[in-house]
Amino acid sequence: MTKINRISIHGFKSFAHKTDIPFDKKYNVILGPNGSGKSNVGDAVCFVLGRLSAKSMRAEKAANLIFNGGKSKKPANQGTVEMAFCNENKVFPHDAKEVLLSRTITKKGSSVYKINGKKRTRTEVLDTLSHAKINPDGYNMILQGD
Ligand code: ATP
Ligand code: MG
Repeated sequence: MTKINRISIHGFKSFAHKTDIPFDKKYNVILGPNGSGKSNVGDAVCFVLGRLSAKSMRAEKAANLIFNGGKSKKPANQGTVEMAFCNENKVFPHDAKEVLLSRTITKKGSSVYKINGKKRTRTEVLDTLSHAKINPDGYNMILQGD
């Protein structure tokens, strides 16, 4: 088993500024008013794990996952979600105590994945995640309506 140590969201959906969300060791709950971005955090988790269907992350197309400027701000050029996984029990085949996964989406809709700062293909990301039995379309993420 692994656990999420923290998530960082920047230019993705309603997160214009880089936002770091630390996760506690036990369970974590996200609270906030309607429309404040709670479900967008769930979409960010699906996104960084390599999910391909934009619609399942509540966007018409992949480029719409990028912060659109809202009513008065400048739209972002790209959107990034970074997730730090605990690797203290060596679930992943890496020496470090933490594994850092990130995905950036550009306006053209293409994605760049990185593991510990190094560019990786989506297949390599899925291979790494499979060590922790994580699958971007699996039931480790249960969405509203599922
Ligand atoms: P509820 O309690 O109603 O479920 P919520 O906290 O889950 O609300 P979200 O659905 O996460 O809210 O966030 C909705 C907000 O995200 C809306 O204001 C919407 O305009 C904004 N949003 C979605 N996509 C983008 C985007 N690409 N750029 C900027 N804002 C976006
Ligand atoms: Mg919601």
